[in-house]
Amino acid sequence: MSAFQKETVISVKHWTESLFSFTATRDPGFRFQNGQFAMIGLEIDGRPLMRAYSLASANHEEALEFFSIKVPDGPLTSRLQKIREGDIILVGRKATGTLITGNLLPGKRLLLLSTGTGLAPFASLIKDPEVYESYDSIVLGHGCRQVSELAYGEHLIASLRDHEFLGDLMRDKLVYYPTVTREPFRNRGRITDLIASNQLFDDIGQPALDVETDRIMLCGSPAMLEELHAMFTARGFAEGNHSRPGHFVIEKAFVER
Ligand SMILES: Cc1cc2nc3c(=O)[nH]c(=O)nc-3n(C[C@H](O)[C@H](O)[C@H](O)COP(=O)(O)OP(=O)(O)OC[C@H]3O[C@@H](n4cnc5c(N)ncnc54)[C@H](O)[C@@H]3O)c2cc1C
Repeated sequence: MSAFQKETVISVKHWTESLFSFTATRDPGFRFQNGQFAMIGLEIDGRPLMRAYSLASANHEEALEFFSIKVPDGPLTSRLQKIREGDIILVGRKATGTLITGNLLPGKRLLLLSTGTGLAPFASLIKDPEVYESYDSIVLGHGCRQVSELAYGEHLIASLRDHEFLGDLMRDKLVYYPTVTREPFRNRGRITDLIASNQLFDDIGQPALDVETDRIMLCGSPAMLEELHAMFTARGFAEGNHSRPGHFVIEKAFVER
């Protein structure tokens, strides 16, 4: 049995010149936990070209969804950005990753902090009813350079508000905090600075960080992760993993090559 399953593209949506999302069929045997990633890719000249991708769909959904960058000369995304409905993609049979609720100690507030396509695993987690049962409030922070790059997240939040089952839950508990660094917007600045200065908490009218009650998931650029890792560690937060749950967990949104 091949390590990869062939799936069919159902829909593709281009959000900006550098971002798109797509859905694909899901093998009934493909299981994952919300927040995990899998290897996905294309067959190029008879060989699989695969990259790590967070599952942006939740595990109770029938189709798979991904939120992707378009790297102009990127071996995979220069091709993947051209997929259309009916095309075949490859999806690894195994999902993995640290951004799962089981890697966190019990808490009251869940902070999901992302930059760029780092939003993807949180798109999955905010569709998980168990997340709403486990926490009193969930704060989704998403930082981008331009306002246009927020479009996928804005659309996701709007569609969740209208969702038959999740709508009430998320209206009660989810606070969405988009922020932009390079253009005027209602929230401005880097997520890291907005946390360090408490501005984010002032803006949403919630208490400042507290290791007793806050649990945090991070997914973003290497620089954002490094900075927040240092900040949280200095404030007494311990990093969690599969063998030992902690106050925060981290996943790279991409690797610098
Ligand atoms: C755990 C994990 C999960 C990931 N999940 C996603 C995801 O959900 N969506 C997604 O688009 N990518 C994701 N990536 C990145 C992905 O694996 C590829 O790097 C990306 O698809 C580009 O592939 P490529 O072959 O075109 O270029 P690559 O050769 O892989 O990358 C070239 C360069 O592009 C930049 N780059 C790559 N990916 C990104 C990105 N997402 N945002 C900003 N800059 C980037 C980096 O500087 C990198 O050095 C993830 C990576 C990891 C490690």
